Amino acid sequence: MMKKAALFLAIALIIASVFTGCMRRNNEESTQPETTENKETEKPVYPTPDGKTVVCLDAGHGFRDIGCDTDLLDGNEAETTLAITLLVKAELEARGAQVILTHDGKTFPSADEVRRLADSAGVEYKEEDIIDNDIFSAYERAVYTAAIAEDKAIDLFISLHVNSLPTHPEFSRYEMDYFAENPYADALGEFCEDLAGALDNESKIFADIYEEAFLVTKVGAHPSVLIEMGYATNEEDSARLNSEAWRRDFAKALSDSCIKWISSYEEK
Ligand SMILES: [Zn+2]
Repeated sequence: MMKKAALFLAIALIIASVFTGCMRRNNEESTQPETTENKETEKPVYPTPDGKTVVCLDAGHGFRDIGCDTDLLDGNEAETTLAITLLVKAELEARGAQVILTHDGKTFPSADEVRRLADSAGVEYKEEDIIDNDIFSAYERAVYTAAIAEDKAIDLFISLHVNSLPTHPEFSRYEMDYFAENPYADALGEFCEDLAGALDNESKIFADIYEEAFLVTKVGAHPSVLIEMGYATNEEDSARLNSEAWRRDFAKALSDSCIKWISSYEEK
């Protein structure tokens, strides 16, 4: 009896080791980098094939470029956009999304890194506009994001900004902007409408939606939106932008709209 049991165990162990060996090989195969041939034929599918939602957030300005700066706004535009971007990141992650930041306010990709990523992803760019200095320009961010989008299939890119119009301190509103020629333009219009509705309920602020597009949303074929969160030259808008409670509400509303919009692709 003992002999029979030992033989059975030995056979079982051999079968198990062969099976796990296969499993390991299959896993290794699946993590192999895609060939160039695959990359060219496989366009990003929304949502991303692994089911993980990927949102790329861009805190407008930063480093030597402080953006707009008024007495009404606590901190400058760059500090405000970074603080709000980090809140949005936390809200999106709490909803199971993966968040990529174009920068964290401490460092940003060098001109060489932007070029290297763009070259490997096959993103075309104007060499003369990629400059190594202490400004992470809108164009460099756009090329960098387009390169990441090729690699990671970004479901949505959002650049956050604060507006300013010193000649018209009465100007008070959100503004949302996407590129009319973006392949997702129609759907992005719906996203902006949905978000404007959610924000309007929160604060009764008028929102304008444009198709003019800022440079940062014009490179690449991934869905991109730029949001001006209010006017730093307007008293009410600045008070709102300075408020921790409003920032948290905005981060929640934006994250909800992002997840709702991205998951709507699952149904189509
Ligand atoms: Zn700005």
